[in-house]
Amino acid sequence: MELQDKGYKNVFQLDGGILKYMEEKPREEFKGECFVFDNRVAVDADLKPSTTYKLCPHCGQPGNIKIECKRCDEPALLCEACLELEWKKDTCSKNCSYQYELHPDRKGKHQVLHYEATRLRK
Ligand SMILES: [Zn+2]
Ligand SMILES: [Zn+2]
Repeated sequence: MELQDKGYKNVFQLDGGILKYMEEKPREEFKGECFVFDNRVAVDADLKPSTTYKLCPHCGQPGNIKIECKRCDEPALLCEACLELEWKKDTCSKNCSYQYELHPDRKGKHQVLHYEATRLRK
């Protein structure tokens, strides 16, 4: 390799990219998560899909801030940017944020069904 000819000793190529590198290296050497550009969003040191990061439902960026949707009560992970926006920060989807903005007092279908279900069980 050209660089090695010039006396660089520790030159190595990431054959197959960072994921291959992580597969081959013992996990101790890699802490944290690696963002990948597919629906896993990020993978941890064992190449398992991330549970810390999901794509923010509002903007599609990786998000790791847990919220519970004020509209439908579903948990969601948002990004920091969307958390700054009043009508996005408490909702799990574009649809919910839209509905929530229109009628902040109303709950979604899910909420009603859930309520009925718990009441019927008693
Ligand atoms: Zn976002
Ligand atoms: Zn929702």
